[in-house]
Amino acid sequence: MADHPACHLLIAGEALSGEGRDTQDIVDPATGEMIGSVPHATAADLDRALEAAQRGFRTWRDTSADQRTAILLKAAALIRERAAAIGEALTREQGKPLKEAIGETVYSAMLLEFYAQEIKRVYGRTLVRPAGQRVEVQYHPVGPVAGFAAWNFPSLNVMRKIGGALAAGCSVIVKPSEETPAAGLALVQACIDAGVPGDAVQCVFGVPNDVSTHLLGSPIIRKVTFTGSTQVGKHLAKLAADDLKVATMELGGHAPVLVFADADIDRALDTMAANAFRNAGQVCVSPTRFLIEEPVFEQFRDGFVERTEALKVGNGFAKDTDMGPMASSRGLERMEQLIGDARDRGAHVLTGGERIGNQGFFHQPTVLAEVPVDATIMNEEPFGPIALLNPAAGEDAMIAEANRLPYGLAAYTWTKDPARRRRLAAEIETGMLAIDTGSVSAADAPFGGVKWSGYGSEDGREGVLACMVPKTVHEG
Ligand code: NAD
Repeated sequence: MADHPACHLLIAGEALSGEGRDTQDIVDPATGEMIGSVPHATAADLDRALEAAQRGFRTWRDTSADQRTAILLKAAALIRERAAAIGEALTREQGKPLKEAIGETVYSAMLLEFYAQEIKRVYGRTLVRPAGQRVEVQYHPVGPVAGFAAWNFPSLNVMRKIGGALAAGCSVIVKPSEETPAAGLALVQACIDAGVPGDAVQCVFGVPNDVSTHLLGSPIIRKVTFTGSTQVGKHLAKLAADDLKVATMELGGHAPVLVFADADIDRALDTMAANAFRNAGQVCVSPTRFLIEEPVFEQFRDGFVERTEALKVGNGFAKDTDMGPMASSRGLERMEQLIGDARDRGAHVLTGGERIGNQGFFHQPTVLAEVPVDATIMNEEPFGPIALLNPAAGEDAMIAEANRLPYGLAAYTWTKDPARRRRLAAEIETGMLAIDTGSVSAADAPFGGVKWSGYGSEDGREGVLACMVPKTVHEG
């Protein structure tokens, strides 16, 4: 498509493409057609990026906090100005409704604004000692960071990789997904346009495992941060361990939703039915395993199906679209496998269950009920437009089911009982807990998981501290 932005590498401030580099097609998931291509970095390109990152680290770390704040705020302003164009490219590459793509990009600017201000609040401390002695705890940037971002939030995932690192004074090389390169590249360009040195923020593409192996194999990189599947996260954590690099892993989830009989059922339905199908369910905090107390099971089930069937599936550029296509044919194949397996094991398909048409990667919003616990979909992250509704026999059983899986990213609960809210907050193994809300993310709040959902946080003051290391200075 002629108006799709050209994608290139950004190494040491230079836009690089062509010159015999391999390229990868970018596909519009609404049509299945090629809309552009992205170059793969060569080993020499990655070495150049590493050398630049080492130089950029020294320059950026020595830039005063005030100056870093001013530059990052300017970058955020540029991202806001460019949000409509970035959002359009994002929708074309990833499929989500345009208003969500623009909203995600504006949210990325908000996150950068938070980080830019937070730099000023990274305090050290002085410890109490006898006169003449002094012990000071200082916080220093960890060093050059390598960030790997997934395709489901092409703007936000990239900002989560670069924002905290730049705020902390680190240089960063980010690899957005090759399937959705334009938005992340535009965010890096905005940082450079605002005054971040081109050596301090760089963008590369390539065969994911080749790029991560190359960058993590270098002693220059001191931290890795990754958003994606648990399987790849474990692999990268092992590579990081070989050189004892710091790691932040934002991995998969399979969020339980505990709906109690005392809940405001209509509010729970309105919030959770919209959430479950946002971004075609390709969200790491997507509500997926619904545990509904028996007295309200039928009411909740029927209300959920009614709301699901009212959703409009279509091209992300159409004004009335609630849900776009899945981002790739892999997602469709996975949905077919998971639904087939659940059906074979006795789950009821209440609505949906099928691919829509044969152009692009559209799938019906799908609701399964009474899904046996041994169905694959009850154990592996579905990452698609599907909700699993099961009746549950009271609080203890619901908590046990919520904690049954090795994942622990987000959990949702709906109850008016204050004492129960406290118990759930204490007992559910999760990085983020939502009580009577669908929201688990905010620029000033840490975002991250426990168990197989990963470790380390992004966003909030924790997102900056995750890119810093303490140094204790003892003076006698
Ligand atoms: P995947 O695990 O191969 O890819 C996920 C992301 O990781 C992609 O952006 C990819 O470019 C990157 N990646 C893959 N291998 C890498 C490597 N060795 N080094 C660096 N980056 C690498 O699989 P997929 O088919 O894209 O998605 C499969 C599943 O992953 C989904 O069904 C979902 O469960 C999970 N996922 C989770 C998130 C999340 O937000 N936590 C995002 C995307 C995918």
